[in-house]
Amino acid sequence: MRDVSKFLSGFRRFQHSYLGEQHALFDRLAQQGQRPRALVIACCDSRCDPALLTDCDPGDMFVVRNVANLVPPHVQATYFAATTSAIAFAVHNLEVEHIIVMGHAQCGGIRALMEHKAPGCNEEELIAKWLDIAEDARQQVLHEFKDKPLQVQTHACEQSAILVSLENLMSYPWISSRVQQGKLALHGWYFDMHNGELYEYTPQTGMFEVLVDKLEPSAHEAS
Ligand SMILES: [Zn+2]
Repeated sequence: MRDVSKFLSGFRRFQHSYLGEQHALFDRLAQQGQRPRALVIACCDSRCDPALLTDCDPGDMFVVRNVANLVPPHVQATYFAATTSAIAFAVHNLEVEHIIVMGHAQCGGIRALMEHKAPGCNEEELIAKWLDIAEDARQQVLHEFKDKPLQVQTHACEQSAILVSLENLMSYPWISSRVQQGKLALHGWYFDMHNGELYEYTPQTGMFEVLVDKLEPSAHEAS
């Protein structure tokens, strides 16, 4: 078993940076509380930490992470209260101005949904029940990409599931009313870890368009 010393030395670096060099930021956050501008709903995947990917500081984003970055619809909210209570807190109490659903390439949750194996044990049944939130995305992909390989279908479903979550967010009256009043904006982002690019769903084209493009090798060298 690998030990956790990497995490402890990381905490020491955090002490130097945020509790040392930037202590004013942390003092302010500790005294005045948090006022994050965005709620980010991201996957549990260890490669997709939203704060790390966006180089954010503590206090910038309120994050809820779950398998495959899903939002249950309003009618099922009480069954999946861990996610919906975090969303409610961010919207009601923190009054965030943006909700970003951040999906990603190579999502194991979406792959499990597309493979659609019958649960073999209680643990798998728990995951399957959760992933059922995105069943509409799976059905749509199976219809539109029925002759395509599983890899292509899974990629399409990673993006379709983001749209299901955005749609489900709008099923909450206290979210849709804020969106209609211009107090809250919803975004669907997709992190392509193969190319290191960030995409955003664009309603005008119905496509995920590049939001931050690939960094050229020369830019890596320059930084
Ligand atoms: Zn994932």
